Amino acid sequence: MRMFVAALGTETNTFAPLPVDRDAFERAFYAPPGTHPSTPTLTTAPVVAARARAARDGFTLIEGTAAWAEPAGLVARGAYESLRDEILDQLRAAMPVDIALFGMHGAMVADGYEDCEGDMLARARAIVGPKAILGCEHDLHCHLTPKRVAACDLIVLFKEFPHTDFLARAEDLVDLALRAARGEIAPRMGLFDCRRIGGGYMTSHPAGRAFVDRIAAMEGQDGVLSISIGHGFHAADVPEVGSKVLVIADGDQAKADALARRIGLDFIAMGRAGIPPHVKPDDVVATAKSHAGMPVVFADRWDNPGGGVPGDGAIMIETLLRHPDIPSAVGVLWDPIAVEFCRSAGAGGNLWLRIGGKSTPVSGRPVDAHVVVRAVTPDLVIPFEQSQVSMGAAAAVTIGELDIVLATKRTQTFSPEAFTQLGVDLSRKKIVVVKSSNHFHAAFSKIAAAIHHLDTGGPFPPDPTRVTYTRVRRPIAPLDPDPVV
Ligand SMILES: [Zn+2]
Repeated sequence: MRMFVAALGTETNTFAPLPVDRDAFERAFYAPPGTHPSTPTLTTAPVVAARARAARDGFTLIEGTAAWAEPAGLVARGAYESLRDEILDQLRAAMPVDIALFGMHGAMVADGYEDCEGDMLARARAIVGPKAILGCEHDLHCHLTPKRVAACDLIVLFKEFPHTDFLARAEDLVDLALRAARGEIAPRMGLFDCRRIGGGYMTSHPAGRAFVDRIAAMEGQDGVLSISIGHGFHAADVPEVGSKVLVIADGDQAKADALARRIGLDFIAMGRAGIPPHVKPDDVVATAKSHAGMPVVFADRWDNPGGGVPGDGAIMIETLLRHPDIPSAVGVLWDPIAVEFCRSAGAGGNLWLRIGGKSTPVSGRPVDAHVVVRAVTPDLVIPFEQSQVSMGAAAAVTIGELDIVLATKRTQTFSPEAFTQLGVDLSRKKIVVVKSSNHFHAAFSKIAAAIHHLDTGGPFPPDPTRVTYTRVRRPIAPLDPDPVV
């Protein structure tokens, strides 16, 4: 048995004016064959899962390159093509293989390629031939296109949001691929298009939790091998944007199709019940005071670097400076210039600092303030489940009762270590604002008195009905009357 595994991913916000070149991948995560660390990352987990399984089962594993760029705007054509061809050349050199697996976020858009993963998987199929098992793992915020389903035998998505199951789903993919290659199962994939943009759930919220528990319980029963809910990624103007349901059944296409449709209709019926309400900036202080304990954590959901936007919006700093009596913390803002100034001033130094609002037209206004540098570090590394994430050189600055963490790499605020490693004691803060959509939830829920999501108004874009899409297939809800009932 010979298995090839590689990874290529990013999440492209086609509305974000942040270009992505090859260097952006190499700076964020780039591991040539055999150099992937022993810990997985969000989209390279199949490499680590396959390694562990090969060590246990004794099959031959050939590793290709694994690469990831922090979500941003359109990927340069040359960046995508060079990474794609690097990996496909490795696959060609590894032939013959029984299995080829890829870790892919699933929402990469490059100049000239609206479906990068579909393009790459179709090319991989042409290399491995019709008999080999071809599969990939996707983030649930992916564009689950028919082209990918046609190319693959197996596609497995994360079920959890926050994505705490990226390694577990990679293990599922590896296991299903081995069983299929041995002839123990015959995967048939059924795809149902919900024809809507902006749906979804959070598994940190009761309705989403119940939905995922219910579909997970169906797996392994009655010939159902795997169920995936693709939420889509609505900050992308591509034809296949929107939510989809994918069911893999053993040897039974009709069952896969019918169950995908049934679950898809349930997903549509759930509507927004799986997503918690969002607080406006002016209501943050009153909301925090309504809870006895501390800290109360607020997620600045629409200025989250994980969604492809800069992550340097200062709206909440401006808001909290109007309440200087309330101990607060905000982080992590992407601001390489401010970090450089703070590192020059050193810990204990004080200076006038322009914070945030520098990088793009969608970043909003900066805040100018006299700050004291609490701490600096050449590399702020924080955990996210099994992975370790570098935020680059970083600094914490203090303005009275407000602490702000600034970093040089655009990365979302996954865990409290983003603050505590720079000496910010969150147990003494009433309000903590994090730049994250929901991945913060798993780690912050362990220290938070309460958690809320914030709507600071952008720049993500939050509301699909206010987005000018030109490439989307129509009709699709909520742009058109519900096309699926
Ligand atoms: Zn995601």
